Amino acid sequence: MKFELEPHNRGVSDEVLLDDLRKVANKLGKEFLTQEEYNNNGRRFLVMDRDNFKCFFCGRTKDDGIKLVVDHFIPWDDYGETVMENLRTSCEPCNSGKSNLPIKTKF
Ligand SMILES: [Zn+2]
Repeated sequence: MKFELEPHNRGVSDEVLLDDLRKVANKLGKEFLTQEEYNNNGRRFLVMDRDNFKCFFCGRTKDDGIKLVVDHFIPWDDYGETVMENLRTSCEPCNSGKSNLPIKTKF
């Protein structure tokens, strides 16, 4: 099976992607996921599952009435990759307080 990588999947190898797909499918009790399902929900689900469905910054959960999102630790705009290590579960209030200003100055 071969997946076309979207730009959003920068930094993800085919092997990792396939492995992730299998893990997500397993957790959801499905035999397979389409790439669309994966891009929409798959990695987000894996990241939230790893982070126990809690905001990385404040520890709140859905039960506290906030919406959880998955956020790039090193911002996408600053060449952060879409890999598990660079993704964090965050609530919307914490996420919206973050800026995407680059940490490096370009000359
Ligand atoms: Zn938070």
